[in-house]
Amino acid sequence: MALNAALVQDFEAQIAQLQADRVYKRLNHLESPQGARVRMEGRGEVVILSSNNYLGLANDPAVVAAGVEALHAYGAGTASVRFICGTFTVHRELEVALARFVGTDAALSYVSAWNANEALTATIVEAGDFVISDELNHASIIDSIRLAKAIKKCTTAVYKHSDLDDLREKLRANKGARRRLIWTDGVFSMEGSIARLPEILQLARDEDAVVVMDDSHATGVLGATGRGTAEHFGVLGEVDLITSTLGKALGGAAGGFIAGPAAVVDMMTQRSRPQLFSNALPPTVAASALAAVEVAEREPERVQRLRDNARYFREAIVEAGFTPLPGETPIVPIIVGETAAAIQMSDLLLGEGVFVTGFGFPVVPQGQARVRCQISAAHTRDDLDFAVAAFKRVGAKLGVI
Ligand SMILES: *Cc1c(COP(=O)(O)O)cnc(C)c1O
Repeated sequence: MALNAALVQDFEAQIAQLQADRVYKRLNHLESPQGARVRMEGRGEVVILSSNNYLGLANDPAVVAAGVEALHAYGAGTASVRFICGTFTVHRELEVALARFVGTDAALSYVSAWNANEALTATIVEAGDFVISDELNHASIIDSIRLAKAIKKCTTAVYKHSDLDDLREKLRANKGARRRLIWTDGVFSMEGSIARLPEILQLARDEDAVVVMDDSHATGVLGATGRGTAEHFGVLGEVDLITSTLGKALGGAAGGFIAGPAAVVDMMTQRSRPQLFSNALPPTVAASALAAVEVAEREPERVQRLRDNARYFREAIVEAGFTPLPGETPIVPIIVGETAAAIQMSDLLLGEGVFVTGFGFPVVPQGQARVRCQISAAHTRDDLDFAVAAFKRVGAKLGVI
């Protein structure tokens, strides 16, 4: 029995409500590594269309071996923060590789992209600064801005998704700010849409603003060699600051980073609180991520395969009668309308051996509930055909095609 029974009763009631509202999240347990197909406890093998394992590196032999070797070479970790008790050489190697990969002078790793975003905003703004954020930006960006506002007293605003007119207007209305910062995702995860980066950069140039881009769904994914949204638009090296994750295309373990000019990145080492007061990435994870970057650089054909797979799936699913949101990324959201329909579709697909998650209100707008498919370079045409066939059976059963 817990000390405070009212606390427990309160949370039991909240959970019961989530279940009654059919929005309670059930965790599916996997018994195998992440891959095109995984073994799910109680279900057996399923094709997975809901992981961010874009390049298929989560279980790549080189990525796994690098982690094992680093465990032997460095042990479990430094047992403190980097500036106090030393930092491993593998962290420096990883950060050099990350900067090279995304086209910046320098990079600094964090235990997650969430942490990196939180570190960045609060460190680079001061009272009198203005921060403006796309309305569909990731939760970690939103919270990083809330934190910066609370502790640094900057002012903030939100602009309509990819609406440059709204962004321009709000930037100009805050011309008096000491510094103005534009925060955008590179790829928006629920839509699979790409930020209008060249226009955002031009506006920032005109207005003397700073551009910060979270490229978590684009690193290893967009651009001919997977260097991200900047490569996709031919503006590599032009974004002021980039943050991204190591938990998606680059191995899928954990970790994130800030990349940009050396002085700004160095200031993150000097001042950002998650860096100063929290341990570094475990060396095993850093080494796996480093190997993932090296494989991505050595095998750009993975990026091409990812793109071909995404195109193939998109075309097949349209042919089957579904209406995915249009786009060029491996995120293929299939709109089904009501939240209940998306959840039911996801459940039925799992019954057919396809693991893909449904998202409803309030994660996405009312009436635009969706099943979000994510394609990987690891998928074979067989995997994708299997998934499309399951979609057809389930779509027919639900009357959505
Ligand atoms: C996934 C994601 C994150 C969080 O990444 P972690 O490294 O798991 O914290 C942050 N930002 C965006 C845009 C993401 O898609």
